[in-house]
Amino acid sequence: MIDAEKRHSWHPFTQMRDWCAPGHEPLVLVEGEGTLLRDSEGREYIDGNSSIWTNLHGHRHPRINAAIREQLDKVAHTSFLGFTNPPAIRLAEELVALWSHPDGSPSELTRVFFSDDGSTAIEAALKMAVQSRQQRGEGERMRFIAFANAYHGDTMGASSLGGISAFHGRFAAHQFPTVHVASMDELEARSGAGDCNQDRIDPKEVTAVVIEPLIQGSAGMQIWPAGMLARLRAWCDRHGVYLIVDEVMTGFGRTGTMFACEREGVIPDFVALAKGLTGGYLPLAATLVREEIYEAFLGDYAELKSFFYGHSYTANQLGCAAALANLAIFREECVMDRVQEKIAQLARSLATLDGHPNIRNVRQCGFIAAFEVTQSSGEPFPWQEQTGARVCVAARKHGLLTRPIRDTITLMPPYCVSEAQIAQCVEALRLGVEEVVGAAE
Ligand code: PLP
Repeated sequence: MIDAEKRHSWHPFTQMRDWCAPGHEPLVLVEGEGTLLRDSEGREYIDGNSSIWTNLHGHRHPRINAAIREQLDKVAHTSFLGFTNPPAIRLAEELVALWSHPDGSPSELTRVFFSDDGSTAIEAALKMAVQSRQQRGEGERMRFIAFANAYHGDTMGASSLGGISAFHGRFAAHQFPTVHVASMDELEARSGAGDCNQDRIDPKEVTAVVIEPLIQGSAGMQIWPAGMLARLRAWCDRHGVYLIVDEVMTGFGRTGTMFACEREGVIPDFVALAKGLTGGYLPLAATLVREEIYEAFLGDYAELKSFFYGHSYTANQLGCAAALANLAIFREECVMDRVQEKIAQLARSLATLDGHPNIRNVRQCGFIAAFEVTQSSGEPFPWQEQTGARVCVAARKHGLLTRPIRDTITLMPPYCVSEAQIAQCVEALRLGVEEVVGAAE
């Protein structure tokens, strides 16, 4: 199996020369149950990053398994182009309802456009934003604003917004015009009046601002200051700019509320959902949009105002069935109450890392945790040494699978993780740091 793997597979974000090197033994994952994953040698690990931030209620969850099987006995996939299907209809209705206000008044996000993953959910939002501006007679609004170090996916449009140049820099000539800002202070300063403001952003040229709410994931789990999202909403309202919120990582409970936007009472103009939408089972995404944006696409057929965008597997029936089961679990198994307990347990376990000389800036946003592995002096290790990656490999021996972002170690297991397993994860990371750094220092 490993021979075939090394001959033919090509992995994302991976230096394949290292991967295929004779000494490297890829981990082959064959089974999962609850929070545990099992490899081809029968070893078990806690899924410490929820299979790249997707899994919510654990692997092989009986209700999601049953929902997929039941749907499989009807049909796996039919086209959403020219047809519709029951699970997609129900799912769109439920997603809209999830965005209704705490007082029960209906959501402003009334329309749901399905696609396949986080990147395509963003890609659809960007294209909708541009096309709706053109069709509303606002064609001068061409530019996007995104944040430094942002990550919104790898399709061409989504990667235009990216603030991590290693991922998108070489494609710059082919991307949407995007201005990056580091903070709300910078955005407000650069969009203020004044001829001497050389880097001025003219808000009248801006289509939309895009943000990962509360916390930037791929930037290394960087938490935004409280109130920042509400301040951005107010800026967008003042200038008639759309707000696109990327809840691909934060959605479905990760930050302690069902959606991160709830924490600051913000309703965006577009929201992108993916990863946890199916409980981490199948690739499915949704872009939710306000009615007035959708209305800009209505007209006579010959006006060509339709949104000419879609994918073969849009609104895949198995994916929608899995997503409906995921939402039923939230509703019927008091998941958000349990998440609050898990957040407190995680905080208690993380506190055991306090004062460790090689573990700095331990932080937590809801049920997402991260820290930096550093030299004892507090200096970072040279990034080329891949210290974070080596710590995560060392943690495997102690029963944990997770993935770093450079030297930021992240931890965000599924919500069904037990208190003892949370403690095991944190201990595995501590031991991993000590093994790797102890050898280096
Ligand atoms: N947006 C955010 C905030 C993400 O974290 C990711 C992936 O990590 C994406 C978008 C892209 O999602 P996908 O990998 O499903 O295309």
